[in-house]
Amino acid sequence: MRILVVEDEMGLADAIGAILKKEKYIVDIANDGKTGLEYAMTGEYDCILLDIMLPRMNGLEVLTYLRVQEVETPVLLLTAKSETDDKIKGLDCGADDYLTKPFSTGELLARIRAMTRRKGISVDINPKYKDITLDLKKGEIICGANSVVLGRKEFQMMELLISKAGQIVTKEDFVKKIWGDSDDSEYNNVEVYISFLRKKLQLLHSCVQIKTRRSIGYCLDGGNS
Ligand code: CA
Repeated sequence: MRILVVEDEMGLADAIGAILKKEKYIVDIANDGKTGLEYAMTGEYDCILLDIMLPRMNGLEVLTYLRVQEVETPVLLLTAKSETDDKIKGLDCGADDYLTKPFSTGELLARIRAMTRRKGISVDINPKYKDITLDLKKGEIICGANSVVLGRKEFQMMELLISKAGQIVTKEDFVKKIWGDSDDSEYNNVEVYISFLRKKLQLLHSCVQIKTRRSIGYCLDGGNS
């Protein structure tokens, strides 16, 4: 599950990002409306958390543009208490739900779950590539009759690799989307986790391999099958 957070209060954006990553979501953050719109237009997200008062382009403009362009990703508006009118306008513009700041972690997560369930995107669609499937509920990777449990980071990395199947995922992508900030030590962790994942794929006798590409990143390869 990929979530886009569009929020200009850096502290809040980072806090939300940290909460979501802890729950196994893959998170991108945009700190202004225009950047948020560019990200959202890719249609890569399962859910968008959208602040209303944003620099460069406000949340309602972003939302209106997305809906006109037929990007139907569920949108949860984040509103300040004083913005009651905006809330109503937001729902009219095609928002799926709203949350008034300040909100609790539990409430945020419940709203996200409810929204993605409603849209049927859900958590129940297990990512697949060739002969492997990720079981989102159990945190396992399955191949035929065999399965093996993945650690949280391994799972997120595999999910990212599958979502980008056929493309190179760079170390920077992994660090940015899974660890959240770039620290040199995280880059080494990527290699370590890739080696864990390779061992687990072998253990499952999967035809899928994680190939190193041009020493900048990794991509899935399904062999001939
Ligand atoms: Ca704001």
